[in-house]
Amino acid sequence: MIAAGEVVENPASLVKELLENSLDANSKYIKIDVKNGGKNIKFTDDGKGMSREDLLLCIERHATSKISSKDDLFNLNTYGFRGEALSSIAAVSKMTIATKRKEDSSGYSISVTAGKITNLKDTQKSTGTEIEINNLFFNTPARLKFLRKDTTENTKIKEIVLQEALANPNVSIILVIDGKENIRTSGTGIENTIIEIFGVSTLKNLKPVEFGYIGNLSLTRSTKDFIFTFVNNRPVKAKIIEEALIDGYYTHLMRGKYPFAIVNLKVDPKSIDVNVHPSKKIIKFSDENKIYHDIYSITESELNFDKN
Ligand code: ADP
Ligand code: MG
Repeated sequence: MIAAGEVVENPASLVKELLENSLDANSKYIKIDVKNGGKNIKFTDDGKGMSREDLLLCIERHATSKISSKDDLFNLNTYGFRGEALSSIAAVSKMTIATKRKEDSSGYSISVTAGKITNLKDTQKSTGTEIEINNLFFNTPARLKFLRKDTTENTKIKEIVLQEALANPNVSIILVIDGKENIRTSGTGIENTIIEIFGVSTLKNLKPVEFGYIGNLSLTRSTKDFIFTFVNNRPVKAKIIEEALIDGYYTHLMRGKYPFAIVNLKVDPKSIDVNVHPSKKIIKFSDENKIYHDIYSITESELNFDKN
């Protein structure tokens, strides 16, 4: 039903999928360890884990525990639903998944190389899941060649993790790149998360509004990269939100300048279509005019806070 196959185009998209799996598993702590521009990645979470049966299933194509009928597609409350990420990653890497549920006395570990199971055993570990991916794209030289240099891939990974950390401020998310800690949030709410990522002075220059936070003019940026948009805690690209913000700032901003804003809309899942693109990043609203008007008018009326 859904065009797909672009799930793991690069290490950043892989990180996004694994992060969202950990979030779907109700993790409160997620650590991501990245090496070699994302060709080696280790994920650790404290989520609900998998049974032995589910562990064997999860690397099969279109195996998902998150959807039971096609009607569920229009009422998505979890990030994942296509059962495609793990099987796609397994097919193009050497992967080991170790997992344990609270109710099980033992955990289980599976190793997969290019989609083939090479090892399955019991293992002792704490509740949660650990996924280690090595030699990403080792058997798909075309995709390996398509990767940019490590620093570029690392930057894309950082962007993804930053967005997910902002979208999930009650989860502690840690990103380590080549042994160096890049992002560390404590999972203690949005304001602490903003401080932990951008610093305390950024929080001081943000005003809480109905849909999130808008920055005063001192936070004005020369790129759109500081407009963070989330719908139902899902990082998304929605042109209409960007337009409404920029237009709302228009009288204050000079040409080529953009606001700093964090927009987190809560809408009825039925009123959005996240299936515009298989990466789920681009979405459409059924009532784009209302969304535009709400964000525009709040931005315009609340922006005066920096004048005094
Ligand atoms: P989807 O997320 O679309 O269901 P995935 O291929 O990403 O598909 O994952 C397949 C299944 O593996 C999930 O439905 C879930 O049951 C299980 N799974 C994956 N990652 C985790 C995790 N970190 N913790 C617990 N279960 C997981
Ligand atoms: Mg998934």
